Order: sequence, then structure tokens, then C-alpha cells
Amino acid sequence: MSEIRYDPLKNSYSVVASERRRRLEDFTLQNNNDIHDDASFCPFCGDDAAKLYEIYRMNEENTSNWTTKVVPNKYPLFGIKGNVDRAGKGYYDCINGIGAHEIIIDSNRHGDILSGYTQKEITNLFIAYKYRILDLINDTRLKYFIGIKNIGIRAGALINHPHSQLIAMPIVPQKIQDIIAIASEHYSKKCRCLTCDILEQEYRTGDRVVNENHDFIALVPYSSSAFEVNIYPKYHSASYEHISDNAIPQLAELVRDIFIRYDILLDTPSISMAIRTSPPTANRESDNITFKNIDKSYHWSIELKPIITHYSVFEKVTGVEINPVAPEESCRYLKEVVII
Ligand SMILES: [Zn+2]
Ligand SMILES: [Zn+2]
Repeated sequence: MSEIRYDPLKNSYSVVASERRRRLEDFTLQNNNDIHDDASFCPFCGDDAAKLYEIYRMNEENTSNWTTKVVPNKYPLFGIKGNVDRAGKGYYDCINGIGAHEIIIDSNRHGDILSGYTQKEITNLFIAYKYRILDLINDTRLKYFIGIKNIGIRAGALINHPHSQLIAMPIVPQKIQDIIAIASEHYSKKCRCLTCDILEQEYRTGDRVVNENHDFIALVPYSSSAFEVNIYPKYHSASYEHISDNAIPQLAELVRDIFIRYDILLDTPSISMAIRTSPPTANRESDNITFKNIDKSYHWSIELKPIITHYSVFEKVTGVEINPVAPEESCRYLKEVVII
């Protein structure tokens, strides 16, 4: 089982997941770049795929053919069995890695490129995220849920088949706690959601708005990494899993629109996508005061980031990102992409 460690000097958590990679040679660059490109050996559509345990499944209309499946991760970061044990080790804290780590196989087709995604596939992915979170949320040991998707080798996707991940963990990560604290402070002073205020301002200026539809808006954040796009519901909502089934195709439409813009503008880049939702509060210990107005102050979003710059130690150590393109310029480039 993995172990979550907290270091008070860094004010951050790390996960020691030593069973995921056992051999020293697994760490070499060559092995890290081995991509499963052959469909017959693909764990999600190859000969062994039928043996996968299905947690959740969606079929093509009026057939028994699957379109989207959720399966356990073969190498999970967190495991579902056991109690959450917290221990102090001198100044350090450690928690055993209780949680869940599921793989969402977005599609039955092999080959993972941004412009290959249909709106239906992305809709199914977001439906799977919603219903898996709604199921796992009943487990009160789980304090935070994150949906992530990596496409392309530079984002760390080693299997060339459309897939995503849902991770549930027994802590609220420090970065999310910081966002909650800022949002809560704004709400305490003004009785308004900070994100709703920012969205109204962005909508008024329009300098960083890439696209929108009835319920969602896609914009390049004022301070962001190169070509980063965040998608927000235009209405206030703290928890992704409360999205209505009717709104999901609209969200998928906007995500697909940005995928295609990236593909055309940046020539099939690797990208990462994450859902930033609020932690659930029902039936959880709420010893953290900043959770008190979370439903009114936190606003969920989707973060999309192309991986086009190299690892920078300056950025890692300082938390200050270097962006070679002004967000307003990124927005202009993305808006000017002609989608046929
Ligand atoms: Zn495959
Ligand atoms: Zn809001």
C-alpha cells in the first residue's frame, strides 16, 4: 500500500507509491518512453481486455457493444481496503494510502489523438466521472476526488488508447486547500463567489475568452501557462458531480472545441486535463473552518494544459510559471483557428 507523507517545511504532501515501479531500469528514460502502440497488445482493446473487471459500463444505443468502461487501475496510487491510519513521526505526518484509482476507457477505438475524440465520447467520459464520483462519495474515508486525463507521451500517457483516470484520496491536497481558503475569504467579505466575479469581469472585457456556449465559458486565465484554457460553468456550482445530465453534452462540446483548436494550432500536442471540484463535506469531519461556506464560495472548473515547454526547476521551486506567450495572445491565436 502507498503512503501519503506531509512535510511541514514544504507545507505539502507526497505519495510514496513504491510498488508501482519495482525495477531500477523502469526509471530509465527509454523505458519511460515505451508507448503501447500496438492494438493487439493494448490492455484496453487487445486480447486480454475482455478479462478486465468492469466497475461501470456504457453501451452503444440498442446494442451490447461497449463504448465506455471504468476498470480498476492495475497499478493504483491508492487502495480501497483498510482503515485510514494517521501517524505522527516527529515533525512529520503520514497517512496510509486509502482511496480509489479507476481507469475510464473513454472509447472502444484504439489510437489517442486530440482531434480523434467525438463529442459523444467526451460526453460519455464526463458522465462516467459524474456517476463514479457519486458512487465513491458515499465512502466517508475519501476526502477528495480528481478526474484527470493525459494525452500524448509528453503528458505521460503510455497507452495509445483513449483513457482517463479518477483518483479518490483520504486528504484534501494543499493546493486545493489554498484555493478554498482564498475563495472563502472573498465570500466572507463580499458574500459573492470570487470565480463568479472574475467570470463577469472576463466576459465584460472579452480579451481572454476563447469560446462559450449556453452554460459554459472557456478562457485563458489572466496568469497561466502557455495556451492554458480553463472551462467554467457560467452558473455558480461548487461540485462537478452536481452537473445535470443535460448540461454534460454542452461541456463536452466546449472541451472538444478546445481539443481541436490545440490540435490545429500546436500540431497534435500532448495535453493534460483535470477537473477541479470542491471536496465533499457531507458526513466528513469538518475541523477545517474554511469549509463552512464552501458550497457558495468554491466554483468548479476544468483545466486544460498543452505540454509544450520543458521542465523548469525555477518553476518547480518557486511555483512561478514562465509563459512565453501572453495569455491575451494565446487567446487570440486560439480564437483565430478555423475549424471546418
Ligand atoms: Zn487499444
Ligand atoms: Zn461561482
